[in-house]
Amino acid sequence: MKTAKPLKPLAVIIVASIVIAAGFTAAFGWNPAVMAIMTAEFRKNQEPAARAFPEGLNVVLIGTGSPMGDITREGACIAVVAGERTFIVDAGEGANRNIQLSKIPSKPDALLLTHFHSDHIASLGDIALGHWGRNASTEPLLVIGPPGVDRVVKGFNEAYALDDNYRVEHHSAEWMPPAGAGSVARTVELGPEGDAAAVIFDEDGLKVTMFRVDHGVVKPAVGYRFDYQGRSVAISGDTMYTESIVKNAAGVDILFCEALSVPFVSVIERYASNPSTAKVAHDIPDYHSSPVDAAKMARGADAGMLALYHIIPPTASPLMFPSFLGDAGKYFPRQITIGADGMMFNLKPGSKTVRQSRRF
Ligand SMILES: [Zn+2]
Ligand SMILES: [Zn+2]
Repeated sequence: MKTAKPLKPLAVIIVASIVIAAGFTAAFGWNPAVMAIMTAEFRKNQEPAARAFPEGLNVVLIGTGSPMGDITREGACIAVVAGERTFIVDAGEGANRNIQLSKIPSKPDALLLTHFHSDHIASLGDIALGHWGRNASTEPLLVIGPPGVDRVVKGFNEAYALDDNYRVEHHSAEWMPPAGAGSVARTVELGPEGDAAAVIFDEDGLKVTMFRVDHGVVKPAVGYRFDYQGRSVAISGDTMYTESIVKNAAGVDILFCEALSVPFVSVIERYASNPSTAKVAHDIPDYHSSPVDAAKMARGADAGMLALYHIIPPTASPLMFPSFLGDAGKYFPRQITIGADGMMFNLKPGSKTVRQSRRF
């Protein structure tokens, strides 16, 4: 007597499922298998466990790109999550989409702006909309920045005013309380010194410090430092080499620094068919940091590690990374990571370790 091969019933089930699913699709226009997968995937991301962050200071690179078109990187944006506190630094293009993927709390304590170049503010309106619409918030999103932040906030509020009205009308004032629409600015004025700094938040063990950086003609420009339970990180914003970072990022576990490869950008200047593109490529190296500049600042600050973001120009393939970094490793012999969207860094209290993972 012949015995059935064990795989046979499984094959029958698979084929039958495909036939039934195809039948459903043909008859009703939807596929139960696809719906089941989508539902499971969506529910998994709703689980508290999927949204939880490990103990300690957590940094998620939301967007690591620049204004240049880059299929692998959204615009500059970094989230810092420490205990119950969440801060977002900058709001580059596309940041709000990745914020949703990152599953950080949709109601951050504040959005911190480093300066007002378009590639750092572009998503402000959408982040404020998420803060409002996903929380029925009765208070607008707090946006903290150097002088000028009030003008930026006012402009976004005006630009989104019609949209705000549609939301209230469509979803009701109960779910979209008009008082919570948009954002509200808090201006922090630093002293005139090149390395001026001010503590802007100090609660629940988390201290946030704003410090001046040097972005050439773009004034004011600042970076931020976060200290939590003995661990610390600093975020440069856009800057050329500056002693202010050496001083204000002193001893941090990780310095997150912007980086522009001068040799890579010189290719754009030389071969761009559009003369305006060539002109911009010619001008930008003088107010950004090269990977070597970043390495020098990290060494001066005695940082535990250097992570680069705001990568200019688009540098998608890891095969390009050594050329992008150039001599950076000679100036900073500790770990240098080229950041990517979705990268997460966990700094556990009472240790020196940095646990790197993917948040999305
Ligand atoms: Zn800038
Ligand atoms: Zn920028």
